[in-house]
Amino acid sequence: MKVIDFQITAQCNLECRFCCDSLKSCKSSSYDQIERMIKKISKTSVETISLTGGEPLLFTNIVSVINCLKKNNINIYLSTNGILLQKFYDDILPKIETIGLPIDSINTNTLKLIGRNQNQYELNLKHIKYIQEKYPKIKIKIGTVVSQYNINELEELGEKLSKILRKNDVWRLYQFSPIGIGKLNESDFFIDEDKFNSEIKRIKIKYDNINVSSLSVEEANDAYIFITPDLRLAEFTNNKFNFINYLENLSQEEIEGVLRNDRKILKNIEQNREWLKP
Ligand code: SF4
Repeated sequence: MKVIDFQITAQCNLECRFCCDSLKSCKSSSYDQIERMIKKISKTSVETISLTGGEPLLFTNIVSVINCLKKNNINIYLSTNGILLQKFYDDILPKIETIGLPIDSINTNTLKLIGRNQNQYELNLKHIKYIQEKYPKIKIKIGTVVSQYNINELEELGEKLSKILRKNDVWRLYQFSPIGIGKLNESDFFIDEDKFNSEIKRIKIKYDNINVSSLSVEEANDAYIFITPDLRLAEFTNNKFNFINYLENLSQEEIEGVLRNDRKILKNIEQNREWLKP
């Protein structure tokens, strides 16, 4: 499955202390520029666009962008922190295939320490229930960033999620990655790969009734192709963003060259996004 992440805005309504966004000062493009970009991308082999940020629902014309993606037959995976979701329920949910919502802990104190909204668990639980009842075809992905703050709370969270998530939904656990703002707080959040992997292994065995999937820092490297808010094509390699060019300067063939199946990054993306498959 060919998936590109489109960081539609760098703006966010939270200040998570582990945030890996390194493009905070990058300006968003206009709707007209985005529409042109979508038309260009729709003629390539890209099948799915992951709409991310920042917080994508802060982008003024988000509903029009989603409509445009749909019109151009591109599958949509919306990754949101959930804070503004209710406002968009019936404008957006009928048009997307997958939604990603974060739950990092069920404890308000932990959520406060990591900089998340303290009602994150209750709020996103409410969204899950609504989506499962009203839009049952949408695949739900719960994302958890695993760090020193919550590694000992995963079991408690798994207990709750194992009663809520359906067969096709996913609990995706990410090892804390020290990039962006997260780099500044590395000593508070860092966990090593061995500790992460052994805890994930235990969680996967314990909650084998749900789909638990994980991504270590090593697996995340060389496994994303991005479109930045100012519409540059970029890759995440050597643990940093590497910019290729502005999409408007790239021909169809040049974009396909970046998306060639035999490139290592494409193979890694396929693996990284295995869970997105219907
Ligand atoms: S982790 Fe996500 S929700 Fe938190 S500040 Fe970064 S972009 Fe916003």
